[in-house]
Amino acid sequence: MTLHEHIYPATGKSNAQVVLAGAQEIDQAVAAAKVAQRQWISLTAEQRRDLLINLADVVHEHLDELAALNVQDYAVPISYAGNAVLLERFLRHYAGYIDKPLGSSNPGPADLNLIEREPYGVVAVIAPWNGALVVAASCLAPALAAGNAVVFKPSELAPLASLRFGELCSEAGLPPGLVGVVPAGAAGGDALVRHPGIGKVAFTGGADTARRVLCSATENLTPVITELGGKSANLVFADADLDAAAALSAHQGPLMQSGQSCACASRLLVQDGVYDAFLEKFLRVIGSAVIGDPLDPTVTFGPVISQSAADRILAAIDEATASGATLLTGGRRMNGSLTSGFYIEPTVLADVDNSSAIAQTETFGPVVSVIRFSDDDEAVRLANDSVYGLNAFIHTRDLARAHRVARQLESGSVWVNTFSDISPQGPYGGYKHSGSGRTGGLEGLQEFLQVKNIRLALA
Ligand code: NAD
Repeated sequence: MTLHEHIYPATGKSNAQVVLAGAQEIDQAVAAAKVAQRQWISLTAEQRRDLLINLADVVHEHLDELAALNVQDYAVPISYAGNAVLLERFLRHYAGYIDKPLGSSNPGPADLNLIEREPYGVVAVIAPWNGALVVAASCLAPALAAGNAVVFKPSELAPLASLRFGELCSEAGLPPGLVGVVPAGAAGGDALVRHPGIGKVAFTGGADTARRVLCSATENLTPVITELGGKSANLVFADADLDAAAALSAHQGPLMQSGQSCACASRLLVQDGVYDAFLEKFLRVIGSAVIGDPLDPTVTFGPVISQSAADRILAAIDEATASGATLLTGGRRMNGSLTSGFYIEPTVLADVDNSSAIAQTETFGPVVSVIRFSDDDEAVRLANDSVYGLNAFIHTRDLARAHRVARQLESGSVWVNTFSDISPQGPYGGYKHSGSGRTGGLEGLQEFLQVKNIRLALA
């Protein structure tokens, strides 16, 4: 057990001391979860459904509190802090599956062939700092609905809303230990992944960490699903509604969570004929961002997570301009009343070569690279020229083009004339280095169920 100084990114000042779990606390959480899971699965389907609905109701009663804690966690502007709303929606959605039969049978002439779906037991859910409640929604809710217990590990950088959610699970009447929240850093995360009591790992985070998690999971051959980063291409065709495309691209690009989102549309591909007209509108929307105190409901743009993140992002911008990119706006640390926080101006780089580091590496900051294209084929080639494949965006009025291009994009999700609006019904996940497995929908539930075949001779 160690103490971690939680720094509030909007001020750079200490916010709280967080007790981090070590191997011993992880061990205790897994043991408690194991006992609770047996209790959970011994309830009737109706009882489990009602408890999960009750948890959704309790979350609903605490939406404002959870949103405020979200702001304290990583200084996301309160105007964007809707993660708890998503959590409530996912809990209600997955509660609805619990009392529906999912098994099937395939009777033969002389036997009964039953196909049953069973929980893994205790699932480890590991969350990144930029959306622990979203990961609780997309992974913890289906894992519980499938009959598992969950040991939930938020990042040490943003553990506050998750800790409160853990308390709400008890208040909602879930068996003690069914949801264990263990804030920890890399060492605690590694102990969790290697723990022999874990039946499955759901990891959300960066690709480099995922490589370490996958290696550690081989110790007990524990299955892992991964939800990783992205370098999403955002295709603006000449026939698009340019005003709507500019507003959506600015929101999905540098503005939402200061670009610190797996779904950040960080590669902006614009067709030749509208390049200048579109960029003018895009830069105007970015210029209208309200930057400041994340607790002010009118503020739409906040700081990045840490001093080291700010240093890394500024170095990436400098490297891009040194390699020939043109800085259209931003590129600096903000000063004045924002000096002590980790604020970086929304940044747009033009004349970016798609093979350059700024276009290929996840910047995880408020930085967008603009690249020109001439026709559909070039747009698809550039979009797919990335190791990532999490989200892609298309802006066009031509529905046939939208379908054609969407099918050619190597991406788990394609959003046409909209932003990445994650919903409980939509399976979400990555192609290529953006991960494996899906969260959301029936596909997301099945990630937390294993299939058993039972044959019964009738003769
Ligand atoms: P990270 O990879 O640094 O950390 C993710 C989590 O893993 C944290 O809880 C961290 O403590 C833990 N961890 C670190 N080392 C570990 C180890 N060896 N074993 C087990 N756990 C370990 O990522 P981050 O900086 O917290 O989050 C940003 C990344 O997450 C970005 O790449 C972003 O794109 C990605 N992300 C993906 C999605 C998605 O749904 N695909 C959603 C949000 C964020």
